[in-house]
Amino acid sequence: MSAPIVIVGAGVAGLVAAIELQAAQREVLVLDAAAEVGGRVRTTMVNGLVIDHGFQVLFTAYPTLRRYLNFETLALRKFTPAARIARDGQTSLIGDALADPGLLFDTIFARAIGVGDKLRLLALRRFAQQLTIDDCFSARFAGISTRDFLRGRGFGPAVIDGFFAPFYGGILLDRTLATSASILLFTFKMLADGDTVVPAGGIGALTRQMADRLAPGTVRTGQAVRALVVTEGRVTGVRLTDDRVLDAAQVVLATDAPMAATLAATAGLTLPEPTGARGCTTLYFTARTTPIPGKALWLNANPDAVVSHAVTLTDVAPEYASGGRTLIAATILGDAATLPDDTLDAVARRELCAMGSVSEARVALERVALWRVPYSQFEQAPGWRNQRPSIACGVPGLWRASETLHSSSLEGAARGGEMAAKALLHAT
Ligand SMILES: Cc1cc2nc3c(=O)[nH]c(=O)nc-3n(C[C@H](O)[C@H](O)[C@H](O)COP(=O)(O)OP(=O)(O)OC[C@H]3O[C@@H](n4cnc5c(N)ncnc54)[C@H](O)[C@@H]3O)c2cc1C
Repeated sequence: MSAPIVIVGAGVAGLVAAIELQAAQREVLVLDAAAEVGGRVRTTMVNGLVIDHGFQVLFTAYPTLRRYLNFETLALRKFTPAARIARDGQTSLIGDALADPGLLFDTIFARAIGVGDKLRLLALRRFAQQLTIDDCFSARFAGISTRDFLRGRGFGPAVIDGFFAPFYGGILLDRTLATSASILLFTFKMLADGDTVVPAGGIGALTRQMADRLAPGTVRTGQAVRALVVTEGRVTGVRLTDDRVLDAAQVVLATDAPMAATLAATAGLTLPEPTGARGCTTLYFTARTTPIPGKALWLNANPDAVVSHAVTLTDVAPEYASGGRTLIAATILGDAATLPDDTLDAVARRELCAMGSVSEARVALERVALWRVPYSQFEQAPGWRNQRPSIACGVPGLWRASETLHSSSLEGAARGGEMAAKALLHAT
């Protein structure tokens, strides 16, 4: 029997590549170091609670990703298309009234943003929606930061720091707004074009569903690749950490950027991968009653905020907790995300209660999980797209399937996987 195409990594990118290659009747083997599939898109059940490996949402408008999912069977639960901004004991709901006219009243009277900025927001939504995704990533926007782009559209410091910083903290794990304006526009477009959802079974249901589309035995978990095997100038297999060698017709690297660079180096290659990372820590709490009710994401706009954003998951998807319990996710970004567990726990309780203006004694928060993901997204500073890797890695037999080919998102990973599979099928 001929050697299979070996895909290293069973995250979204690797699974999409595997689905495409298997659909083209190619022999495929997917290896993943972790005990289960999904990479950054995983969920664990903890005492009847659905705990995602870091709070994460799906935009139903992602055009590539949705082709690999069956939304019907995922039981998607919608967020309200709005953000509740909490600052100095006050809250304001800023919503997309075009998507949900019921949000018009609250949004018009929200005090956190002035009338001029509300109109500018509406214009930005229209502007982003008219762009294609390729337009969003064109040179026109890719080279400038989100902050400079917003300034250029007339937004003042109050709305930039009081709304966009926590909002983009919530979506892009970046409160500094140093991320390329392409990502702002892409995200705004996705928000405007569809719904923001989580599957009732947790975000990991996405990758479990993708893996289920593969023939039995295609994915092997608990198999960490340590090196590439090169024979006469061509990649012919992989060496696992237990020193076993698996032969491969082709090898597709579908790991995160740092691991792809490490593995490529074992074949003497330097991959032009983005180097920076954005990390986050998510704390999950049960509560007697939630301090931050509703189906909208809560943004902490206080300048010294440690909790960036939070949501009562069970208000969005009651299935996230059995027995009618309340489950809350609070996300912490940047340097604060690396503080010790107990410090984060105490600060998160205090800030969640301050956001909702309730006493800690009343809500009785109880921490049930804490997830640290130091490499949640790669850094997408202006100009980062000039450092994207090539799909063909420069040595015969080696390919790259990754979010780094497009953007650090579920859609970016799906595109990376699809592009790699198509290029490989075309060439071999
Ligand atoms: C907390 C958090 C929140 C996020 N929020 C959003 C969001 O709201 N919306 C959005 O669109 N995106 C979000 N993202 C980003 C999104 O999850 C990622 O862009 C996407 O999942 C990346 O998929 P991938 O397949 O490229 O990489 P990964 O998911 O990282 O997959 C790589 C796989 O390779 C495996 N691997 C690594 N090394 C080896 C090895 N040596 N041998 C074998 N296997 C190996 C890993 O175990 C992993 O399974 C978020 C990410 C996180 C962590």
